[in-house]
Parts: sequence; C-alpha cells; structure tokens
Amino acid sequence: ERILESVARPVDLGEQTVTPSLSMGLALGTPEYTSADELLRDADTALYRAKESGKRRVAIFDSEMRNQAVKRLALEVELRRAIEADRIDVHYQPIFDMASQRIRGFEALARWDHPMRGTVRPSEFIGLAEESGLMHALGKLILRKACRDTRRWRTDFPGRENLWVNVNVSGLQLEDGTFAKLVDEALTESGLDRSALNLELTESVLMRGRAAASGAIAALAELGTNIQLDDFGTGFSSLSSLSDLPISALKLDHEFISAGGRCEADRVTVRSVLEMAHVRGLKVVAEGVETAEQMKWLRDLGCDFVQGYFLSPPLSAKDVDILLGGGTPKRRVA
Ligand code: C2E
Ligand code: CA
Ligand code: CA
Ligand code: CA
Repeated sequence: ERILESVARPVDLGEQTVTPSLSMGLALGTPEYTSADELLRDADTALYRAKESGKRRVAIFDSEMRNQAVKRLALEVELRRAIEADRIDVHYQPIFDMASQRIRGFEALARWDHPMRGTVRPSEFIGLAEESGLMHALGKLILRKACRDTRRWRTDFPGRENLWVNVNVSGLQLEDGTFAKLVDEALTESGLDRSALNLELTESVLMRGRAAASGAIAALAELGTNIQLDDFGTGFSSLSSLSDLPISALKLDHEFISAGGRCEADRVTVRSVLEMAHVRGLKVVAEGVETAEQMKWLRDLGCDFVQGYFLSPPLSAKDVDILLGGGTPKRRVA
C-alpha cells in the first residue's frame, strides 16, 4: 500500500504533468515454478487483473486466473488473426425518423464471424481489443466498411441519398491523436459525404478524457462529421455540462426506454431530457425500442428518431440491400 502511494505523485515531463498510478500483480514463489520466466509471466497476469479492477490495486495469481489467462490469450491471438483476415463484419441497425417512419440511417455494430463459436458479439471482443492494442486496427476496419457500405447505399438506391451512418468510437481511438486523420481518410477513400457520418461517443469517454478528447473532438467537428452522445443518461453528465461540445444528437440509453412504459421516474427523465435537448437544438434518438407502446409514448413526447428490435434488429449488409431494395430480409433477433 505504501508503494502504491509513493508512486502516485505527479511527475513533470516538461510539456505536461502526469500522475502515475501503480498496480501490483503478485505470483507467490512456490516450488511449482521451475523458472523465473514462468513466475514473471504469472505475476504479469495478476497485474493485468489488478489493473482491470481499477487503479491502485494488488492481485495475487491463482489457478483460476491461470485458466482465464490461457483462454484470454487464445482469444486475443484469434482476434488478431480475424482482423488481419477480415473476418470482422459490420451489421447495421436501422434508425427511423419518427415523423415519416422512414429509415434515416443505420448504426454500425461490429460482429466477429468466428469459425468455431459462430457470431461473437462486441461485448466479448471490444474490451479485449482495447486491452491488447488491437482497437486501432479494429476501429479502422469498422469505420472503412461503414463508410463504404453507406456510400454504396446512397448511390445505388434512389431516394436514399441522405442516409446516415453511426459509428461507435472507443475512448482509446479518440486519445490516439490521429483519429481525425483516420476519419478523413475513410471518408475520402469511400467518397462518403462528411455530413453522413455520425460518430457515437459515450458520456464517460467525454468526461474521463476531457482534455485528451477535446482536441480530437474539435478536429472532428472541423472535418464536418457529427458527434452523437451515446448511452445518454447512464453517466453523470448533465446537458449543461455538455453545452460547449459540438454535439448534434443524444442517444437515450435503452434502460430508460425499456422501463418507460411502467416506471414513472424514468418517464419524467425522458420527458425532461427531450425538452432540454430540443431547447438546445439537439436531436434525440431513443434506442432499445421494443414495443408498440414505447413507440406511441415516444411519439407523443416528440422524440426525433427511434431504434430497436420493435422496428428492426441489426442486419447484415446483404440484408440491408434487400431492405432498401423493397424486400423483407429474413428477420432474426440478433
Ligand atoms: P450500443 O452502442 O449501446 O449499441 C446498441 C446495442 O443494443 C447493440 O448491441 C444492439 O444490438 C442492441 N440493441 C438493439 N436494439 C435493441 C433492443 O430493442 N433492445 C435491446 N435490449 N438491445 C438492443 P451490440 O451490437 O451487442 O453492441 C453492444 C455494444 O458494443 C454497443 O452498445 C457498443 O457500445 C459496442 N460496440 C458495438 N460495435 C462497436 C464498434 O464498432 N466499435 C466500438 N468501439 N464499440 C462497439
Ligand atoms: Ca452506440
Ligand atoms: Ca447506446
Ligand atoms: Ca449501451
């Protein structure tokens, strides 16, 4: 504990001041170990775990940790290969305009087409990609596909020239320093109009990395892409604390929507978020809309856009082709 504290002093690096924070991983030197390398490797795993559970923690290696570490390492190797072999797919969930009931755009959602495990959801690999340094390559791949597909839909389907695409951005990507350049390249390469791209950032990303993020956000705004605030309501930011950021829309987290028919407190929250957002000229997207009742409620409140299983699950790019061509893709809840 004393070691952890003594390290956590600000260090002046000339340009900037950083406050280091130490986590410790311990592996106990029982006779089990035949080499120092093994011992170090396990201590390293425990260190990862300590970091995962928050800053300034200590974790001790055990056999359960060993099993998990082995699995995790295997998954990391597979993910790296999947990115290289282009086995990461992008699915698209339609976002509907409430007033016209027409598709306004899509949210790009990553899917991993795994040879043994079938389709792997992002909750199982986005975190892994972030921790293993793969997020940059993964994010780039997703962004490029999303821009390319959307450009194609806008060109190929009459009346769809104004489709949007929403792409999720992880905090790590934003802190990278070259993110705006990457976005610029993806747009140029695909020929997609700048205003067609909405980048989804979460409140926690904006709040946590305020300084690091704000440079990147300014650069993105300069490019002419839009920024939407994802999972709004789950963090602690108030609308007023966000007023200096160039945000075009809020995405109300599905937690509020799913309870919306029943929970009075959530109904009040949603109503006031909508009112305040509209006063500030922000649009509101409700996500996770699952019932006709929720649709009616949101329409009465004047919500601008809706997204959820009630309207459509995320679709493969092929299924979007069918949908935009006037057909009905085989519906599976995904
Ligand atoms: P999110 O950004 O909040 O995305 C919405 C999630 O809700 C998606 O899960 C979507 O499939 C799911 N969903 C859609 N309609 C409904 C509904 O009616 N009810 C409910 N309960 N859920 C619904 P998914 O695709 O598993 O993605 C999970 C999370 O993974 C996303 O949450 C996002 O944070 C992250 N993610 C997905 N793709 C990417 C990506 O390309 N990059 C990054 N950085 N994160 C991604
Ligand atoms: Ca999102
Ligand atoms: Ca969301
Ligand atoms: Ca969410």
